[in-house]
Amino acid sequence: MKERLYRFMQGRYGSDTLNRHLAIFALVFILIGFLFRWQILVFFADACLIFAIFRTLSRNINARYRENMKYQAMIQPVMKNVNLTKRRLSDKEHRYYKCPSCQQIVRVPRGRGAIMITCPRCHNVFEKRT
Ligand SMILES: [Zn+2]
Repeated sequence: MKERLYRFMQGRYGSDTLNRHLAIFALVFILIGFLFRWQILVFFADACLIFAIFRTLSRNINARYRENMKYQAMIQPVMKNVNLTKRRLSDKEHRYYKCPSCQQIVRVPRGRGAIMITCPRCHNVFEKRT
């Protein structure tokens, strides 16, 4: 069985970030669609899933790769914030501040009281409580 699946998927594109996000969008559309009885969202969910399955089984790997690259470039500003928030929430030993002059994110140790922070990029000095 595993061998047959492996042979079936050979030369096909498989999954990537865009496909994973399409599946998440579909799930969100279905939930909202059912909650508020908006039939149109269920249609969008189906469209997302069909597109994701088409991309997974596609043999045109170059085209699928380019689509994924375009998508990742498009969502990069959002993902940057998502990743920073994840890091902030999981890191209990540091605090993260934005440099007021160049917006560079600066990581400093927690629990040191008021400290002067020197930005590694623009060397601007600012004070924060840690
Ligand atoms: Zn700076």
